[in-house]
Amino acid sequence: MSELQSPLHQAVLGVFAPEGPLAKLDSHFSPREGQTAMAMAVADTLQTGGALVVEAGTGVGKTFAYLVPALLSGERVVISTATKTLQDQLFSRDLPALIQALRLPTKMALLKGRANYLCLYRLGLAKEEGLFPDRFVVHLLSKVEKWAKLTDKGDLSELPGLDERSALIPMITSTKENCLGSECPQFKSCHVALARREAMAADVVVINHHLFFADLSMKESGMAELLPNTKVVIFDEAHQLNETGVNFLGEQLSSSQLIDLARDLLALGAASAKGMGPWQALAARLELMSKTLRGLFAKSDRSQKLSWIGLAPQGLDEQLWRDTMAEMAKLLEDLLVAVEVVVQSAPDWERYFERVQDMQTRIALFESALEPGCVRFADVAGSVRLIQAPLDIAKTLGPKIHPQAHPSSVPQASNAHDTVSLGHEGQHGTTRESVETAANLAAQSSPKAWIFTSATLGADSTLSWFTQPCGLTHARVLQVKSPFNYARQAVLLVPKNMVLPSDPKHSEQVSELAAKVISILGGKTLILTTTLRALKDIALRLKDLLKDRPEIEVLAQGEGSKVELMQRFRGPSTHEEGGFVLVASASFWEGFDVPGDALQAVIIDKLPFPPPNDPMVEARSKRLESEGKSAFNSYFLAEAGVSLKQGAGRLIRRESDKGVLVVCDTRLSTTGYGKRLMAALPPMARVSDEEALLEGLRRLTKSATSAEA
Ligand code: SF4
Repeated sequence: MSELQSPLHQAVLGVFAPEGPLAKLDSHFSPREGQTAMAMAVADTLQTGGALVVEAGTGVGKTFAYLVPALLSGERVVISTATKTLQDQLFSRDLPALIQALRLPTKMALLKGRANYLCLYRLGLAKEEGLFPDRFVVHLLSKVEKWAKLTDKGDLSELPGLDERSALIPMITSTKENCLGSECPQFKSCHVALARREAMAADVVVINHHLFFADLSMKESGMAELLPNTKVVIFDEAHQLNETGVNFLGEQLSSSQLIDLARDLLALGAASAKGMGPWQALAARLELMSKTLRGLFAKSDRSQKLSWIGLAPQGLDEQLWRDTMAEMAKLLEDLLVAVEVVVQSAPDWERYFERVQDMQTRIALFESALEPGCVRFADVAGSVRLIQAPLDIAKTLGPKIHPQAHPSSVPQASNAHDTVSLGHEGQHGTTRESVETAANLAAQSSPKAWIFTSATLGADSTLSWFTQPCGLTHARVLQVKSPFNYARQAVLLVPKNMVLPSDPKHSEQVSELAAKVISILGGKTLILTTTLRALKDIALRLKDLLKDRPEIEVLAQGEGSKVELMQRFRGPSTHEEGGFVLVASASFWEGFDVPGDALQAVIIDKLPFPPPNDPMVEARSKRLESEGKSAFNSYFLAEAGVSLKQGAGRLIRRESDKGVLVVCDTRLSTTGYGKRLMAALPPMARVSDEEALLEGLRRLTKSATSAEA
């Protein structure tokens, strides 16, 4: 029987048929060639196993394209997303609707990281210790106590008005380091344990990329039990997988970890070991050490990550650095000696002892030579964070997905799960070696099918931007084009007479052109910048240029969270006929979703090349050059191509949307590489100059007004 005639393929085709269950679920549903093609490719992979990478353009309907075959396969499925928004949307909206439409008995569960769940033991400790920074936290705690008696899940998102940056959260949630696991007096009612038990009993579990990597790096447990029993793993928003993985697989040593050690030492000493050690003196030394570390970087540029190629981070005296690290090591040694006396007295002290040992391991790591394939740098934007991270996740993820392509990864040991249990992982290193071991051991029971999908995964036909750093070069690749008619729905302008982005007048010229577009549209414009400096400059200029148009509200990134700004932009303006303008950078290039008339223009200030002085960018470039490749062609252009596609993708979100894209960087039309970037953009109609664009916009607004009349 060929795959196309298999019962799974037939069933998938039936669901996407014009009279099928999806049509009954949604009266606007109509079969889309791309969606069905993607669903069939997913069905193929579910049957044959292996990895499938699907770039599905906006409007394809990729969520149902992977959910339908996955649910119909009857296999156990784990779906991982990059953002909580999509995680919640899948769990609360898409999955229940589809399960009901398909009449399946599927049980689903949502599993978040432990920081999202109330820790009953630590809530008790917080009440006992009574060490609160202010009265607001005391008030909040009494709210949490009331809610704690009512909640089944203990998910903090159920608590309205709890700011995720609240000082209370670390006091009422657990970490892998301080969780007591099965030795906890609250273990039977533990919300983290319950969530994991529910996940184990479910057919479909929705997680996020952080949780997946937290487990892979053996910094957390829970998933370790889940993955070996799962046959299908789906990563949505897969474009964020590499950067999330790099962050998680890295090691950190920070000034705030020293402060946490000091605070917990005082609390533990007061609670269970009064007079049994010099807790006050040691806590004071830890705090002083944290201050010393921060003091070393007092003169450093806080807006930049500091590269660390030699023995010390950039700009620091090597001898002074060595002395500071030695002082920190000595302090931790003294701390261990003091804690050893009480370590047997309570599980909390055991965890504390392990934390100090873990920190010693990290000091040794930062004092040793840098491992190949890694980068080391210091981030001094807030507290001082020393970071060592892999350049990509290929070596960790690749063997897990394709064990046969990595013969050295065939595991020798059989106790893959011995080291993991809830919270009490025991003493294990968090070095690269243990990460590799985790990947190798997990590979022996790897799931059959791995699906990776996103709207943007590369600018070339092999999607190498995504597959190479993720170790997925053996995966099957599919690109499904957006069903939108870009030539009719969108117009692109690259202004001919604008100065180059390096010219000091560039932001001024971008603002002037933007103000003309915005004036015609009455707002409805998103301006994406590549730097915070340009963001501030353009936002200020626009507020001035549009001061006589009170119905147009100019917003800037930072004036609310991304979700709040997006909701304001979508929602009605306080002025009749009013509209919004948002000037934003970084994370707004993706995930900013405003369908309909509220957004009709996207203006990009310049080609989004990665910053060359970022230590990660520098290290990746050097590695490519050492392999004889051009960093510009293989890395900078690929990154810019993907970001440009993501930024342009904000414009057209559904079939009835119309709008203009303006890229204020003449290099896009005058250079060879610019033309390559242009080819990766959706096939929009082009206009040759500013006047033609503005005239088109006037016509667009006039026809919309007469249609309304
Ligand atoms: S087992 Fe861990 S997470 Fe659960 S209540 Fe105890 S300390 Fe908190």
